[in-house]
Amino acid sequence: MTQIKSAIKRFMEAHQYTQFDPRAALIDMDGVLYDSMPLHASAWYDMVTAHGIKATRDEFFGYEGMTGAATINLLFEREYGRNATPDEVAALYKEKTENFHAQGGAPLMKDANKMLGIFTREGMERVLVTGSGQTSLIERISHDYPGAFKPENFITSRSVAHGKPDPEPYLKAMRLVDVKPWQSIVVENAPCGVRAGARAGAFTVGVATGPIPLDDLMAAGAAIAFDSMGAFVKALPGLIADLRAYNS
Ligand code: MG
Repeated sequence: MTQIKSAIKRFMEAHQYTQFDPRAALIDMDGVLYDSMPLHASAWYDMVTAHGIKATRDEFFGYEGMTGAATINLLFEREYGRNATPDEVAALYKEKTENFHAQGGAPLMKDANKMLGIFTREGMERVLVTGSGQTSLIERISHDYPGAFKPENFITSRSVAHGKPDPEPYLKAMRLVDVKPWQSIVVENAPCGVRAGARAGAFTVGVATGPIPLDDLMAAGAAIAFDSMGAFVKALPGLIADLRAYNS
């Protein structure tokens, strides 16, 4: 049995699904459609070190998906043994955001357009599911990935009460396009998002597009993980076919 077929079998048995009918792709944005995580990591690192807080650049890849306040509190707890005040959170997060924008726009993730093309050709609905709440997001995606997402197929931080790793963003995306978890493939690059997709019951693919190891994505609940977008794209048509053909 191939690695993909055995991953599918493991997933189907764990969820007690008897069939899988891939109808929707629920897709994360940062680190999946944009190679934005290095810019976020630098923005965080430069901000905190300017304030004398010790950190490493790479640790910020691991905090992807957490709110700004949660990340700041984690650093404060470690450095000062206390949470940041709301004013400190607001001021520091503003600085981080300014650092991020000062670097210019994030480049598109290599091969992400090929992934979207495959989902489209397979007749699967596409929904963008992001913890970001930027107002320009929908226009930017429509410009960078024309035709990939209908204007109503966006779940952002404004759409949910509880962000990733809560399953709510993915459950909401499923309701939006009227599909069940056994009809949904989630694509994520970070443990926090993988957890959200797995808890929602979707076939959750972890794609390691940054320094986060494959093992961390699997430990977060990924059904399968790939070490690059290129490797995922290469395997995707076969993965969809194998999911369709699964018989318990
Ligand atoms: Mg991400």
